[in-house]
Amino acid sequence: MSTVETVRGPVALDHLGPTLIHEHLISISTEFEKFYPELCWSLPRAEVVNTVTAAVQAVRDRGITTILDCTAYFHGRDMDFVQEVNELVDINLIVSSGIYTFDYLPYNLARRATRDPEKDVLTKMFLRDIRIGIGDSGVKAQSIKVATDLEGITENNERILRTAACASGQTGVPITVHTHPADQLGPRIQKILAEYGADLTKVVIGHSGDTADLDYLRSIMDAGSMAGFDRFGLYLPDTTTMEERLDTVATLCSEGYADRIGLSHDTMGYSDWGPPGFAAKRFPTWVLTHVSDVILPGLRERGVGDKDIETMMVSAPAALFDGITG
Ligand SMILES: [Zn+2]
Repeated sequence: MSTVETVRGPVALDHLGPTLIHEHLISISTEFEKFYPELCWSLPRAEVVNTVTAAVQAVRDRGITTILDCTAYFHGRDMDFVQEVNELVDINLIVSSGIYTFDYLPYNLARRATRDPEKDVLTKMFLRDIRIGIGDSGVKAQSIKVATDLEGITENNERILRTAACASGQTGVPITVHTHPADQLGPRIQKILAEYGADLTKVVIGHSGDTADLDYLRSIMDAGSMAGFDRFGLYLPDTTTMEERLDTVATLCSEGYADRIGLSHDTMGYSDWGPPGFAAKRFPTWVLTHVSDVILPGLRERGVGDKDIETMMVSAPAALFDGITG
């Protein structure tokens, strides 16, 4: 039986259980934190640990036993924080490598560009996180998170996709791509990833649930990848409503796509993107328990059976981590 590395060490895939495929426990910009701590931590750190621990414990109490944290480089990883929370909550936390940017790269990365993804500093960063661990935490990343958004697939972005594919191909680690599905870039992203060595069955086209375009969603899944219905609770004005997302997932389940659907929220337990509670005020449903409390009952009301729910919550997420060679 294959295992996957978690914050607390290796776990057998059949012990992962119900899994949220895309969350962020914390997002703290390292240089900002170092030089402007009073602007970064708007609450005392201990208080933030308590708040995030309570949120993770609440979802653990609903029976969720694994969370994939998709916080990559540039998105504000803090392994000390994640480890501290995991000491307080009995849950499997899988963490990520990758880089979170829609185009911009700082000089230390931009000036080191090379046409050969094998030699690229980005690939080396991803492989280091996967094989040695993130920083000195001793925790190995088991996922690569990258992003495209309104800027489209720019030169920098294509480089990032190639290097992510290269590192994934060498290690078997899955890739999650943040996307802006209104632009329907999923198939182009898949083409680049496949060309540079990624196995498309180990790719999550993230935030796909922001669209209700069934043909687009089917095209992603027919190519083998998982469509991330991973922003439940975050119903941004230019995206789909909760009801549309529920209807879409129910339709796709009835067509046999449950094994290529993952459910999650994309919550940020704490971030330096705004004052504490700014997101909760605007999006009161954007909490870690929303899938458990509202979405799964909503899917059942629409006729989605236990078998499909088990597939989306347990076996499809576990399959992403099958065959990691490191
Ligand atoms: Zn995210």
